[in-house]
Amino acid sequence: MPTRKGGIAVALHHQQPISSLRGVGPRVAEKLAARGLTTLQDLWLQLPRQYEDRTALTPILLLQPGVAAQVEGRVEAVERGFRYRPTLRVAIGDDSRATLVLRFFHFRAAQVAQFQPGARVRCYGTPRPGQNGLEIVHPSYRMLDEEADAELGSSLDPVYPAIEGIGPVSLRRLIGLALDRLPDEESLELLPRELRDGFKLPSLREALLTVHRPPQDADVAALIAGRHPAQRRLALEELLAHHLSLRRQRIAQQAHAAPVLRKTALAGRLRKALPFALTGAQQRVFDEIRADLAKPHPMLRLVQGDVGSGKTVVAALAAMQAVEAGKQAALMAPTELLAEQHLGNLRGWLEPLGVRVAWLAGKVTGRARAKVLEEVASGEAQMVVGTHALMQEGVAFRDLGLAIVDEQHRFGVHQRLALRDKGVGGNGNGDAIVPHQLVMTATPIPRTLAMAAYADLDVSAIDELPPGRTPVQTVALSAERRPELVERIRRACAEGRQAYWVCTLIDDSDEVIAQAAQSTFEDLSKRLPELRVGMVHGRMKAAEKQATMRAFKEGATDLLVATTVIEVGVDVPNASLMIIENAERLGLAQLHQLRGRVGRGSAASSCVLLYQSPLSQMARQRLETMRETNDGFVIAEKDLELRGPGELLGTRQTGLAQFRVADLGRDADLLPQVQDIGERLLRESPELAQRIVARWVGGAVRFAGA
Ligand code: ADP
Ligand code: MG
Repeated sequence: MPTRKGGIAVALHHQQPISSLRGVGPRVAEKLAARGLTTLQDLWLQLPRQYEDRTALTPILLLQPGVAAQVEGRVEAVERGFRYRPTLRVAIGDDSRATLVLRFFHFRAAQVAQFQPGARVRCYGTPRPGQNGLEIVHPSYRMLDEEADAELGSSLDPVYPAIEGIGPVSLRRLIGLALDRLPDEESLELLPRELRDGFKLPSLREALLTVHRPPQDADVAALIAGRHPAQRRLALEELLAHHLSLRRQRIAQQAHAAPVLRKTALAGRLRKALPFALTGAQQRVFDEIRADLAKPHPMLRLVQGDVGSGKTVVAALAAMQAVEAGKQAALMAPTELLAEQHLGNLRGWLEPLGVRVAWLAGKVTGRARAKVLEEVASGEAQMVVGTHALMQEGVAFRDLGLAIVDEQHRFGVHQRLALRDKGVGGNGNGDAIVPHQLVMTATPIPRTLAMAAYADLDVSAIDELPPGRTPVQTVALSAERRPELVERIRRACAEGRQAYWVCTLIDDSDEVIAQAAQSTFEDLSKRLPELRVGMVHGRMKAAEKQATMRAFKEGATDLLVATTVIEVGVDVPNASLMIIENAERLGLAQLHQLRGRVGRGSAASSCVLLYQSPLSQMARQRLETMRETNDGFVIAEKDLELRGPGELLGTRQTGLAQFRVADLGRDADLLPQVQDIGERLLRESPELAQRIVARWVGGAVRFAGA
């Protein structure tokens, strides 16, 4: 937006297009735009991903594997190989009288010609152990003149994320040109002065210049580790921007009206009819939900609860509040198996109370589907349970008051909103009325991350298991001991218990896994002739899957050979033994989910993690964690430590954008401050908040208009 200065309209610096830079033609501009870079500000915020230290030379003798370094030496030998693919190996030596091999897989003849024995070469890269000592694959290098002094770099070299079609040198030049037009401190800064002083953080201008052009005396180690005050400053602002963006969306959401669901008699009747008493945690979380539902604004609540903590019944109680108010409630689950299980539970609980529960999944077709749609549209169906099918076109609710999404990490954010949108209506005054939203997940994420990822939601935790559960005993066994397990299954089933055998493979094509399940099924059926063995995998027809699951649930089969389709939600309390093959290949969250299928009854349960040796360091730690704890929150912390937040959350799950500088693992300690500052800005200077969001999050505002 142009502003007026002395009567002349000038574009604000940060919004000037990149094409205003010297040497940027339409072709380059297009390539940058493809990566979302269109303004000078976008280039300022295009931050180095790493640094290379070319300010010193490392003697070859002192090189360490895995540690990037710059070396200089003379070519001692050159060898070209063609055995599997063309290779060029150049051995260089230096005064430390050690040799380093430079290895190339792609090279031109001119390059080969450069490497004459005796020629001086300077290169940079990360050495790794090779056949003959250390080697660097595809180092960046240059030939040096005979004897002439070649200057060393005077500061760290920033390395920018690669942009297709623009070489690293050009990119650095462009960013440099953009930086030359960085405005003065005052006009660039958005964070209030007293705030910055309070945290002893540099100005934005100073921070940007430091990270793009590290001064000679910069703390190199801190920069490389991403912990330099300049980086912290940028991370803080970036986290703040994301936080503000989520909070603003929440504020926008809550500005809508929602039906007031105050009556609790029906929920009370359901509670009395349940064969168990609620745990303290269930009670507390339901109280929170109950209070939310009684407000004239939409609830936005995430319930985190470890596997088996009893989330379903809490959801059912909430639904009763909607039903009693004459509204509908919908419960959506990510798999048909799970949705059908919910259907079974809810019908068992609700039909005696006279509540009509309808079922809508992909396999409901033709006349049956038409009938369900009609019931949903007329309001005859008070509670609707189903899969993704609930969100499809053609599904119209008469009056959806509460949208519940189970195992929300399996859905995208957009899907969650799509279900909610089924209930958006008007109040006749032109205001939108939106349903309340309850999302549930059994994959707890660490608290700090939850704050960042779900800043638009209120978070409740069911952090207590129903009484009488005995913790699952977990052991890790090498795959060679598989035969012993057959006996173990035999014994468990002889006592009237049931068991799961879970097949997983590296190859995650359904077909290959289905085959593995099939042969395991045949093998186990042969070895355990006295048992009734079932099988379920992703390649089976939905009806077959359900029939198998039902048989297992009813105790008509003893042993269920399964793939990870049974992972989420499935509840068979009589199952007390689970064997997971190739457990070393699964992540912690998935292992924990799978293991959650046992230990749901009062019998002592066990989980055997079969692994193929040798174990990687990571896999070993994962299996150890599983042996040590049953607590999903502890496992989540460990998962964060092992994998880092990027992978843990994934952008799909939370809609969290990729950060430019911030790293939720490394910078998690900033989050409480981010929250504080965020609340203050929203209260005191919403306009500033808006500008911070625009700077960092810009057009990528998550689920815009939600
Ligand atoms: P999750 O939180 O993993 O979705 P479920 O809702 O499937 O857990 O509940 C697991 C099992 O525990 C179900 O069989 C459910 O009926 C039972 N359950 C739930 N709450 C209680 C309770 N307070 N006391 C005893 N059993 C309960
Ligand atoms: Mg569940």
